[in-house]
Amino acid sequence: MTTILNGKELAKKLRVKVKAEVEALTSNGERPPHLAAILVGEDGASKTYVNSKERDCEFVGFNSTVHRLPADTSEQDLLDLIQSINTNDDIDGLIVQLPLPKHMDSEKITEAINPEIDVDGFHTISVGKLTKGEDTFISATPFGIIMTLEDYGIDTVGKHCVVIGRSNIVGRPMSILMSRNGYPGNATVTICHSRTQNLKGFTLQADIVIAALGIPDFLKADMVKEGAVVIDVGITRVDADNPKGYILKGDVDYEAVKDKASAITPVPGGVGPMTRYGLLFNTLKSYKMKRGK
Ligand code: NAD
Repeated sequence: MTTILNGKELAKKLRVKVKAEVEALTSNGERPPHLAAILVGEDGASKTYVNSKERDCEFVGFNSTVHRLPADTSEQDLLDLIQSINTNDDIDGLIVQLPLPKHMDSEKITEAINPEIDVDGFHTISVGKLTKGEDTFISATPFGIIMTLEDYGIDTVGKHCVVIGRSNIVGRPMSILMSRNGYPGNATVTICHSRTQNLKGFTLQADIVIAALGIPDFLKADMVKEGAVVIDVGITRVDADNPKGYILKGDVDYEAVKDKASAITPVPGGVGPMTRYGLLFNTLKSYKMKRGK
C-alpha cells in the first residue's frame, strides 16, 4: 500500500493550530503577527501565490499587507519600499515574490531584506545559519517537506536521499536539511543537477527521492527503486483545455511511480500547501522571537 503524503490535509490541520496560537497570543489585546508581501509585475503564477498567501493569513488571523507594484517599478523604488518595511516594527515577515522583472537584480533585493524578518529564508544570513545548523528561518518549501516527513514518521536516518535540483530555494537547502544531525535528517545525501551524468543510476539507489527541477513527469517509474519515498516539488503550468487554460504538473510521473513508491506526494495537494504553511510558521516564529517567546 502506498501512503499518499497529503500536504493539503496536513497543512489544513497545522493552520488550525496556528490560528489557535494566534488567538491565545492576542487574547491580551496585542496585535496579531503581520506578513508583508511585495509583488512586482503581472506574472500569473506569482499573483496566484500571493493571493493564496493573503487568504492563509486571513484564515489564521494574521495581518497582511500586499504591495502590488507595476512591472516597470525601478529597482531603487523597490529597495526604498523594502527599507521602509525593514524598519517598521509592526511587521514580522517580509517576502518579495520571485521571479522579479529582468531589470532587477534578485540577489540584491533578497539581500536588502532585514534578516530578522526574512521569513522566506533566502538571505545569506539565513542560509548561512541553516548550513551551520543554527536556528533560523528555513525557506518555506524545504521546511514544508521536512514537516511532511516528520508528520508521517518517514524514516530518514541512514537512508540514501537523492535530491534532483540544486537551486538556492529548494534543492540546496533540502540537501543540507536531509544531511543534518537531527530528525528528519541524518540521511546520506546525493545532489543531482542538470550536469549529472547517469542520473537514473543515482535515483535507482535512492530510498528517498526529492524531485525539484521543474520538468513535468521527469521522474519515471523505471528510475525509482521499489518502496522508495518520493517527494515531488515541481509545479509547472501545462496548457489544458479547461476554464483555467492549464493544469499543474509535478516533476514525477505520478500515476506510474505511485505503485512503486512506499509514500509519495501528489501534485497538486502535496508540497505546495505545506510551502504555504512554512511561511505562516516563519511569520509566527518571527513574531514570537520579537517578544522573547
Ligand atoms: P530552478 O529552475 O531554480 O532549478 C532547477 C534545478 O533543476 C537546477 O538546479 C538544475 O540544475 C536542475 N535541473 C534542470 N534540468 C535538469 C535535468 N534534466 N536533470 C537534473 N537536474 C536538472 O527551479 P526551482 O526554483 O528549484 O524549482 C524547481 C521546481 O519546483 C519548479 O517546478 C518550481 O515551480 C517548483 N517549486 C515548487 C514549490 C512548491 O511550493 N511546490 C516551491 C518552489 C519551487
